[in-house]
Amino acid sequence: MTPSIGIFGGSFNPVHHGHLRSALDICQDLNLTKITFMPTFVSPHKSGKQLINNDSVQRNNEHRFNMLKLAISDCVKFEVSDYEMTRKDISFTINTIEHFRNKHPNSPLFFLMGLDSLLSFTRWHRWQDILSHCHLVVSHRPGYDISDEQTTQLLNTYQTTSMQDLHSSLGGAIYLHQAHPLQISSSNIRELTNKAQAISYLTPPAVENYIKKHQLYLS
Ligand code: ATP
Repeated sequence: MTPSIGIFGGSFNPVHHGHLRSALDICQDLNLTKITFMPTFVSPHKSGKQLINNDSVQRNNEHRFNMLKLAISDCVKFEVSDYEMTRKDISFTINTIEHFRNKHPNSPLFFLMGLDSLLSFTRWHRWQDILSHCHLVVSHRPGYDISDEQTTQLLNTYQTTSMQDLHSSLGGAIYLHQAHPLQISSSNIRELTNKAQAISYLTPPAVENYIKKHQLYLS
């Protein structure tokens, strides 16, 4: 059988149960062979980041990667890739998708994202090319709605509700997935940690312990 491959890109700073549960639901409901979590490389040139030099960028990358490894270690269908991190360049999703497309020319590819990401998707670099190579599978995220014209138009053109469509083509459709929406964000976890408040049950214990041990997000 041709494998169906999910790719879940993000900062994962840190990974949390919102990411993990939505990925598991999608993996099961769409019968995916596996899901590759793809932490982005944080560019030192990116404005608005608290990361100020290459050492701290490198350390932050390692921490995000290590926490992902810990978080998914129990799930045989999940894996983490260091592809974007080791390219050490601004992470454009199209480069990653083209890499996967070359590696798996005959497999349907499924790029996972939350609804907040879909709302900005038409501003992503070469978004049409991304869609030509893969399907988008979008998780509902509490607090976000489709009310803008651009996203409505995007869905009018590309949305499907048919599993058959998704598995009989390599890419090109958008599927809105509804299950277990969890109001959890990495920024909230960073904020709670910074205020010395508990983050239990928002992220797996191994990630919580890692954050404590390495004293992450304290300033
Ligand atoms: P931050 O709070 O720092 O912005 P985040 O929690 O949104 O981070 P990211 O790593 O930026 O996490 O997200 C990676 C991908 O996961 C994005 O497509 C995002 O929409 C999706 N995502 C994040 N949190 C959730 C959630 N609770 N439910 C479903 N999808 C989510």
